[in-house]
Amino acid sequence: MSVLEVRGLRAGVSGREILKGVDLRVESGEIHAVMGPNGSGKSTLAHVLMGRPGYEVLGGSVLLDGVDLLALDPAERAHAGLFLAFQYPIEVPGVPLVDALIAALEAAGRSTEELIAEMAGEAERLGSSVALLERHMNVDLSGGEKKRNETMQLAVLRPRFAVLDELDSGLDVDALRHVSRRIEEVRRELDPPLGVIAITHYKRLLNELRPDVVHVLSSGRIVRRGGPELAEELEATGYAAYREQEAAGGSAEEVRGLP
Ligand code: ADP
Ligand code: MG
Repeated sequence: MSVLEVRGLRAGVSGREILKGVDLRVESGEIHAVMGPNGSGKSTLAHVLMGRPGYEVLGGSVLLDGVDLLALDPAERAHAGLFLAFQYPIEVPGVPLVDALIAALEAAGRSTEELIAEMAGEAERLGSSVALLERHMNVDLSGGEKKRNETMQLAVLRPRFAVLDELDSGLDVDALRHVSRRIEEVRRELDPPLGVIAITHYKRLLNELRPDVVHVLSSGRIVRRGGPELAEELEATGYAAYREQEAAGGSAEEVRGLP
């Protein structure tokens, strides 16, 4: 069993503090949803977890099975077992996807013999094309193609934990169902089972990918935690209550009585 533990994480960009102390503990096989209004810091959390340049860590720690991820560069974090699907996947001209995957598998000491066959299988499951392997990473792909592409990579790379930032954006209902169902299958196929942090604005991603825990991020803090029913509630009420707390400048923890 693996554990990804984020403790008191504070981080900013351009001298502005965006994450103001985030705590999350995800175990193998668990699905955690991080929901929250626009601008609450969800993508910043994803970027900081992966070590994207330009984001400054101001405090706290991120441990994967006790290994301090914040001390590692992005490639080392991936090697340690973290996979990240960005809200806006980065285009890497000059690097065909197949080369990037071969490099990642070799770095992990894994065979690349089955890669093409595996990717073909994944492509078929997702209604995508294995031709994507020859395309340069994410270059000139539609939003939906990028998301399917990342799901295929996830299935092949078999990380311990995946952070999925707005995986639902750019996918129509059918594609979303295929992608979330595939991630749910991968979760169970892996040993230890995959742990997931699904960052999303909307509940629809969570119809197939049923969360064990739902966290609400507002103004850089987790202000509420609950089970799957919290996602239903947010779908019905929206984020107005959380925006009002921000506007009032109040401490959301006090309002919601978080432990
Ligand atoms: P979310 O994903 O929840 O919508 P983000 O993490 O993208 O929120 O953004 C949180 C806040 O940080 C916003 O106010 C946004 O404008 C700001 N921010 C994010 N990235 C940058 C950046 N690279 N430079 C300046 N401000 C940023
Ligand atoms: Mg975002």
